[in-house]
Amino acid sequence: MKIIPIFFPNFGCEYRCAFCNEWMATMKKSPISIREEITKAYAFYHGDENSEVGLYGGTFTAIKNWKEILKEANSVVREMGMKGIRISTRPDEIEDVDFLADNGVSLVEIGAQSMVQRVLDAAGRNHTVEDVRHAVERIKKKKIKVSVHLMTGLPLDSKKADIFSAFEVAKLSPDGVRIHPTLILKETQLEKMYLNGTYRPQSVEEAVDVVSDMVSIFKNDKIQIERTGMYQDTETIKNVIAGPYHPAFGELVISSIYEKFLKETRAIKVYGPQYLRSQIIGRNHIKYVSFEVDDEIWVANAGGKVCFDSWLSEYVSHLKELIG
Ligand code: SF4
Repeated sequence: MKIIPIFFPNFGCEYRCAFCNEWMATMKKSPISIREEITKAYAFYHGDENSEVGLYGGTFTAIKNWKEILKEANSVVREMGMKGIRISTRPDEIEDVDFLADNGVSLVEIGAQSMVQRVLDAAGRNHTVEDVRHAVERIKKKKIKVSVHLMTGLPLDSKKADIFSAFEVAKLSPDGVRIHPTLILKETQLEKMYLNGTYRPQSVEEAVDVVSDMVSIFKNDKIQIERTGMYQDTETIKNVIAGPYHPAFGELVISSIYEKFLKETRAIKVYGPQYLRSQIIGRNHIKYVSFEVDDEIWVANAGGKVCFDSWLSEYVSHLKELIG
């Protein structure tokens, strides 16, 4: 599925969250004519009948004329034979779900960021954890797909709080999740906090460690991980002043899960599909474990055989105990 993105940077945002400056993050200008923007983006991204238009950035359902924009986008999508529309918005701005369903919206991306109230408050989110639950339930009820965004390393955050958030979101059974560590962008509240020493960003290692645990939780519940880490191009990266950015963050996260698997099971040999070889063993530097091709992922150790899925389920139970 191809996404044809149209950006509305900070449109409809009544508050500016401490970490956010979408002008800096996307460097995109606001769309003037939605028809024109979709047509241009369709050509640029080589859209086809499997494509969906993504109305991203800002708080889409709080933009003054969002219904007008959506209606127009929907007629363009239909005319061009595309599949549908996805939008991103805040959990406290989901009012007219019927209108979304009636106007071609197939997926709503909800910016939850955390399921811990003190973290939401410290990030200036101005919504509650309950708003997230309520929004996801209402969207699902209308048979629209829902994807939830989480962040790690926000002010007053902790590894325990991030893991707790992952469990809370998994309970809502969204269709997908995106997780990214907090990066410090220019001209944000977080930049000021960083410069005056009241905020310390995660290191890449810390971010990979906690995000890999969160991914384990979602993987164990068969919830799709749509993305981990934030994409930055050569221009937008200039606006990141600090934080755990890595161009291959998602790869590091997956490798970290397998590294935990190999270490905890005291693997002597690991088996798995060839296409996963570099993820399973390539980056882990566990030189004493050899790799052999097999359809399923498992290790041989002194006690016999341990399958990845059964280890994952045990590992996730252990994480649950840790958060109490
Ligand atoms: S994070 Fe979302 S709600 Fe907050 S300022 Fe940015 S776009 Fe607006």
